[in-house]
Amino acid sequence: MGKPEAATVERALAAPAGASFTLHGAGVSGGIAIGCAHLVTAARLEVPHYEVAADAVDAELARFDDAIAEVRGELIGLHAAVPTDAPAEMGAFLDLHLMILDDSTLSQAPRELIRTRRVNAEWALVHQMEMLVHRFEEIEDPYLRERKADVQQVVERALKAMLGTGHAPPPPEREEDIIVVAHDFSPADMLAFKQHRFAGFVTDLGGVTSHTAIVARSLGLPAIVGLHRARHMIREGELLIADGAAGVLIVNPDRQVLAEYQLRRSQLDLERQKLKRLRTTPAATIEGVPVELAANIELPEDVEQALEAGATGVGLFRSEFLFMGRMELPGEDEQFEAYRQVVAAMGGRPVTIRTLDIGADKTVNGADRAGPNPALGLRAIRFCLAEPQMFLTQLRAILRASHYGPVRLLVPMIAHAHEVDQVLHYVQQAKAGLAREAVAFDAALPVGGMIEIPAAALALGAFVKRLDFLSIGTNDLIQYTLAIDRTDDTVAHLYDPLHPAVLHLVGHTIRTAHRAGVPVAVCGEMAGEVALTRLLLGLGLRQFSMHPAQLLAVKQQVLRSSIPEVEVMAQRILRSDHPERTRQLLAKLNA
Ligand code: PEP
Ligand code: MG
Repeated sequence: MGKPEAATVERALAAPAGASFTLHGAGVSGGIAIGCAHLVTAARLEVPHYEVAADAVDAELARFDDAIAEVRGELIGLHAAVPTDAPAEMGAFLDLHLMILDDSTLSQAPRELIRTRRVNAEWALVHQMEMLVHRFEEIEDPYLRERKADVQQVVERALKAMLGTGHAPPPPEREEDIIVVAHDFSPADMLAFKQHRFAGFVTDLGGVTSHTAIVARSLGLPAIVGLHRARHMIREGELLIADGAAGVLIVNPDRQVLAEYQLRRSQLDLERQKLKRLRTTPAATIEGVPVELAANIELPEDVEQALEAGATGVGLFRSEFLFMGRMELPGEDEQFEAYRQVVAAMGGRPVTIRTLDIGADKTVNGADRAGPNPALGLRAIRFCLAEPQMFLTQLRAILRASHYGPVRLLVPMIAHAHEVDQVLHYVQQAKAGLAREAVAFDAALPVGGMIEIPAAALALGAFVKRLDFLSIGTNDLIQYTLAIDRTDDTVAHLYDPLHPAVLHLVGHTIRTAHRAGVPVAVCGEMAGEVALTRLLLGLGLRQFSMHPAQLLAVKQQVLRSSIPEVEVMAQRILRSDHPERTRQLLAKLNA
């Protein structure tokens, strides 16, 4: 059998298509992507998924059996070679791996899948492995739970044995032709995609404000999460249309549907091009009220995109992304260099650096302590206050960067006044240390706090007294107010920025901060949501920070808004306690 050719959109169209079907998920990033599926697993086990021809099923079964036999031989050989004076665990460990290999879930069930569903051997094996791993994850006993790693190691051996013996189609040749299909991605995986030029992303899991989704949005690519079984239903190389705004994924579209989406995609491209004309236009309402539109960034490289979008500053630098996807934490000099680079590139525009917000769905190798309920655990400032040396290192790096341009320090997840007091104490300590060493820094560095826990919004008095500015993190504010895990797609439909409780907390925070003369911004995803721009203006917001990809569309909305008009409607929306009515009022506000 000859090797199949790499998929391209043209080849996928020319080949007899599989059945067309549509999947629905949550759109996290607008636009339309048209491309060929490239299936990846977030695990180390990247395996192809393809259909085996009816007359090749026996050969595929033999390929599977050979691989299992080879691994069995390897493990028996290793067992025999264990020195007599080696610790007893070594033999026990190999016995365990042999037992796992002989378990019918791995040695028999995949054969059934190959025979009945005509999937390739690697895919059948990984499918079964995931089921087994899932069962292990549900075990209470931590020792037994950890045995899932042994299952993965055994399967990795078998996959290695199959390497080069299959008929997987190569991944699409051009990255622009690829729509990546995965079960799930960590935010760090997603970050690695910044170096690529894929057409789009779709995943089985994930909520719309998970950090994975936020990074996808920052890539400016169409992305859909929460598709549930996409990775199992889609085959490598199949033609896909991802409508990132509607959250719809069309698999094997017919020519007419494809033509319609191609047309819509060019219309969207045209609109994006037109928006670029607004880059240097100052953001102000019809009556001339200035509105600040800043950018959220994850890495120093993102500054380029922020400047291209005409951002007036960096309203949120999620510094934790410098710490992710690596073994060792960045030291003071490395951090300083990254912060200084951003400050220099922003050329005098303010840069708001958020201190490490690690925990929940963002983990750092060797430094995270997730706990039983990570979103409510030792996350963000709680983590930093528990690791004062690490925190002081970051504060020193930020202070040093403040010598090179306007820097503001932003503290995530504050809930208690004493947390702010401790932060201010550490800032003083870092300043004193630098002063002793005669290292330059901005002595008046403003210190702000994120209002993203309902308690902080409700007890704002304590924070406006202590802090120089506030920034509302609506992603977490919604997560904690509505008690919905941001990363859990099973509750993603309950994410609702228009929930009266959320709007009251946002409105109250803006009003109270203004009364106290403390500047306040919104840096959660709500700030980049064009449908909410007028509502936020009406609630009194004048500082927005968002991913650069959304900035010009929000600016267009600001330019078309009149403050007296949006204020009246925002008050009516605040008074509405009926979701349908709220949506009607919002539609009227945006008409
Ligand atoms: C937020 O919670 O709204 C926010 C901006 O921070 P993050 O999304 O990084 O938690
Ligand atoms: Mg947050």
